[in-house]
Amino acid sequence: MDLVIKGGTVAIDGGPIMTDVGVADGRIVQLGGVMSADVEIDARDKFVLPGGIDPHVHLTPPVTGPGVDSWADDFEVGTRAALAGGVTTVGNMSFARKGEQMIAGMERDMADAAANSIADYFQHPVLLNPDKTGIDQIAELTAMGHPSVKIFLSFRRFDRDVSGFLRAMSQAADVGSVVLLHCEDAAIMGCCADRLQDQGLTEHRHYPETRPVEAERIATERAVGYCETTGAASYIVHLSSQAALQACRTARARGLPLYVETRPIYLHLERSRFDEPDGAKYTGAPPLRDDADRDALWAGIADGTVSTVATDHAPWTLEQKLDSTLGPHQLRQGMAELETIMPMLWSLGVATGRMSLGRFVEMTSSNAAKLFGMYPQKGCIAPGSDADLVIWDPTESRIIDGATMHSKAGYSPYDGWEVTGWPTHTISRGEIVAEGSLVIGQPGRGLAVPRQPFDRP
Ligand SMILES: [Zn+2]
Repeated sequence: MDLVIKGGTVAIDGGPIMTDVGVADGRIVQLGGVMSADVEIDARDKFVLPGGIDPHVHLTPPVTGPGVDSWADDFEVGTRAALAGGVTTVGNMSFARKGEQMIAGMERDMADAAANSIADYFQHPVLLNPDKTGIDQIAELTAMGHPSVKIFLSFRRFDRDVSGFLRAMSQAADVGSVVLLHCEDAAIMGCCADRLQDQGLTEHRHYPETRPVEAERIATERAVGYCETTGAASYIVHLSSQAALQACRTARARGLPLYVETRPIYLHLERSRFDEPDGAKYTGAPPLRDDADRDALWAGIADGTVSTVATDHAPWTLEQKLDSTLGPHQLRQGMAELETIMPMLWSLGVATGRMSLGRFVEMTSSNAAKLFGMYPQKGCIAPGSDADLVIWDPTESRIIDGATMHSKAGYSPYDGWEVTGWPTHTISRGEIVAEGSLVIGQPGRGLAVPRQPFDRP
């Protein structure tokens, strides 16, 4: 063996067991029995969890050029934050640039990740133009090992060519590509922004009014209809409201292949944050919702309606977030969450009894592995799987301070929160890549995860 983890409570499929985990050549080779290795980790009083999989991050800029600003974190910085928080695989959104096709954009972003990523990675191409080339490339990308595609209902161009996007979803259904859908209605948001402007309401605190629940609900209901029409596996990203969740719950009860992702901010924060003087630092799309929405999402996790929690990690500095030249509908969206997603969910979910250990593993790892074609190589502690493991100390408490964390955002939306449950070691393919928050893995060590077309879990 290269590595043995001794005496931990190991989260295998079917429930936790107290056993030893043996690792050789980057894979798990043995659970229990007599083992020895040069490197041994004492995991008594700790949990051994499958490495986190965050299927929704932004570590490549959608546009570049002079005067264009972009997210603070790239593959190196973002995956350093990820590993410090127990996330060993990230799924990045790959945007083609002006004049570029999806495949060319994907090749550029895969080269970027290969050179710079510390964690393992996969990428979702974003379909901006559903012309014949775009639709053909969904099949080509699936054959190349990228069986997923992202569509934004929130972009005005969606409504200019709904038929084209439905042809794209039909193609995705035919080839086994999962369609990720950003569900907010562009026309409703445009109407709301215009109204605020007419009324002279320019303060940042009006941001939630620019993207109301109604915009999310109607777009989610359309997505349900498109899922039913085309048969495409449909993955609703960053769902934030009770009304949209209910549309998904009914769709799932009818047997549709529809899956729901939510995001930490919707589980931990609520709309009143925007009334704080620096409330714009909480800007995400959709916006923070009400207490009832937050409670509904926790209930959705408990009853299985929600399949994954993902960060949508796309951080900006505080200065960029609080830019006073921007109106409420122009604020920069996105926050740093890769380092805190698992500890926050543990602290507010597992430690409070709201969520079982098994559910935590599903939400942070195994469900994403299954939906995106990586299971059981990823998302599972079993002989043959990659040795992506987190040694988890359920008793360690830290006060969140974004200024000392890895993201270049320089702040966390949870600054000052006391959070209990942190990784002591993060292991990627058998290599100890982080000890506590100290990341020792090197940029370029991350590998692309081979992916299979969608196979309904
Ligand atoms: Zn996103």
